[in-house]
Parts: sequence; C-alpha cells; structure tokens
Amino acid sequence: MSETTGTNAVMPNRSKPMQAPDARPKPRQFTAEDYAGRISRALEQAAGEGLAGLVIAPGPDLQYFSGYVPTAITERPTLLVLTPARPAAMLVPVLERPDAEEAPGATNIELVTFSDGQDPYAIASKLFDPRGAYAVSDSCWSMHILGLQRAMPDSRYRSLTEASPMLRAVKGPDELARLVAAAASADACLPKIRQVRFAGRKESEVSHDLADLLMANGHSQVDFTIVASGPNGANPHHLASERVIQQGDMVVLDYGGLMEGYGSDTTRTVHVGEPTDEERQVHETVLRAQQAAFEAVRPGVPCEEIDRAGRKVIAEAGYGEYFIHRIGHGIGMTTHEPPYMVEGEKRPIVPGMAFSIEPGIYLPGRFGVRIEDIVVATETGGQRLNNTPHEMQLVS
Ligand code: ZN
Ligand code: ZN
Ligand code: ZN
Repeated sequence: MSETTGTNAVMPNRSKPMQAPDARPKPRQFTAEDYAGRISRALEQAAGEGLAGLVIAPGPDLQYFSGYVPTAITERPTLLVLTPARPAAMLVPVLERPDAEEAPGATNIELVTFSDGQDPYAIASKLFDPRGAYAVSDSCWSMHILGLQRAMPDSRYRSLTEASPMLRAVKGPDELARLVAAAASADACLPKIRQVRFAGRKESEVSHDLADLLMANGHSQVDFTIVASGPNGANPHHLASERVIQQGDMVVLDYGGLMEGYGSDTTRTVHVGEPTDEERQVHETVLRAQQAAFEAVRPGVPCEEIDRAGRKVIAEAGYGEYFIHRIGHGIGMTTHEPPYMVEGEKRPIVPGMAFSIEPGIYLPGRFGVRIEDIVVATETGGQRLNNTPHEMQLVS
C-alpha cells in the first residue's frame, strides 16, 4: 500500500524541496478560541465520567488548555480548575500573575492569586465543589493534591490519564501541521547521519551527531537519540554508550524531540557494511510487520488490532518471543501519551489520532531491529508522517 493512503491530506506536497529551517513558515498560533474549545470538550468528557471537573497542573495539559508555561514548576502551586459549575479559573502565585496574564488562553481564565504566607489550598478550595471528584494532571505534584485534600477532606482525585485517556489524543488541523513538520525535520536527519562514520566511533558520538542534526533541522528540544549497536540493539531503551561501533554491527537509530511544541519520534535500523542473510531476514520481518500494522489502521478499529496485525507477522516468522513491547504510543505535546497501541486497548481509532507504529525484534546478546513511523489516522486509513525508506540502509 502506498504511503499516501487516505484522503485526509495532512502531508505537505513532497515534490517541493525541503525548506531551510529559517525559511520554514511559522505555524498559526493557537488562539483563545482554540483553548476555549478544548476546555469545553474536556468538560463534556469529564461529565461523561461522572467527574465534577479537572485540575490541570503545569506541563503538557496546562499548555494544551491555556498555552501557559510557567517559568519554573515549584512548591508554589499553579492549578487550573475546570468545572461546568463556574468559568475556568487558575490559582497562581501573585508574583507570577504577570506571566500568567500573558498566556494566549488567559483571556478565558479568571486568575486567583495567593501570596507567600497564605494557604494556597484554602484559597483554591473556593473554586471546587468540596465533595466533588476531580481528574488531576499526571504531572501535578503530590504535595498539591495532598494540600487540596487537606483543605477539602471530602474531595476525591483520579489520574487524568485514567479518567479521560483520549483527552488530547485526537489532534486538530493545527496540531497535525506541527506533527507533520516535526516528522519532516526528523526525516531530514537520516540522509545526513548515514554519511557520518559509524565503525570505530562510540555510540555516544553518533548520538551527539544525531542530536546536533535535530537542532539544525529546526527542533527546539532533543528528547532522545538512541544509537544501539550490535548487542545493545537487543535492549529497546538502550540510549547510547561508550561502546565502539564495529564493522558488521546492526545499529538501531531511534530519535526525536519537540518542534513548535509537538513531538517527533522515528526509528531506522542501519547496518555497518554488508549484513548476513539472517540480519536481512530479521530486518525484512520487522519491515513487513510495520507495513501490516500500518495497513490495519482505520477509524473504528480497536487500538489493540494494530498491535495484533504487526505481532502476527513477527510470530509467524518465528520471532514472536523477541518482540517484547507494545507496537505503538500516541504522540503530541509529549512523545509518549495515549492512545497506546497495545493488547487490551479496546478503544477505537478516531481520525486525527497520531501514534507510532514501531515493531521490533530483539535477539539478546546479538542485535536488534526496530522500524518506527508516526502515523495519523484519517477518515479512510492511516497516513505516515515519516517517509524515509524502510529498507535496511548500509553505513560505513
Ligand atoms: Zn551484521
Ligand atoms: Zn522511538
Ligand atoms: Zn516511539
């Protein structure tokens, strides 16, 4: 199946040459209306879960609902309280009020301040139903949740990811445009990293090259640049070590970060010099698994079916026990978030969801292979945002 399957064209025209980073147009900034829309959708979901509201802490959730990124996350609580009972309100330390007022979503949000020496949780309690159940951002510090419980002993809290796992999972067009750009930026690193010397250099050196390339291609933050050579490739989360890469090594390159606030994450497995027949066969199996999983992407299909489709190919080739992780994870303002493509995840794929498809085979003590693309669900199927060749590339 071609890489342009699906009618929802989220890809830029690929016949155009890659623009230099400084010539790349800035994406449209999110507006107060965008944030208000997200808040009302979240409140609908929360009501469906029987919740009185949401408690949003600094991190990706707060950025998603308000555009606000406090300069530091500290013991002074910043908490956005969303409830259908009253307009959105955010508890902020009085000294950070000027920063909070500048946030693009702040026009919709009442700011409630506290000063040092006051009990911020007692002040925050005015924004709550003291007997209500609230979903709390995963990134909220426990001291703040405990403070709220102390101020309102009958209030209850659940993890936001557990209560509303798909809250940020379906991306809007402006979010998809950012993911497309981040993926293109990551893709642009691959031809360049293939030109660097592998044999005789440390994994950490190639990892550093990869990080430099991500930044040079427009990323604002590097989250990981995995260079897992030879036996290290059999450890899926091996980062990079002082191991010197050898002629004949398989090398897993898995890298990503943030660009304009949205993540990239892609993996290709290269080989130093000519591979053996077995190495070719393992790589070919992972490639076919990745394709089978990709072709299973369709709206309405349970997420677990994507995992099953890829796993079946690997099991039939006799490597089932060596594929030791789920096949994919969602991506957005973070590089690991719902929806998870994992056995047991029955929730359906919805157009606009963005997630990785990354099967692997890990042969302990020997080598590993993983191939990973970010895929967006369209109305009819899936669309890859990563478009570098899947075939095993040779390096020197
Ligand atoms: Zn080899
Ligand atoms: Zn990855
Ligand atoms: Zn990934």
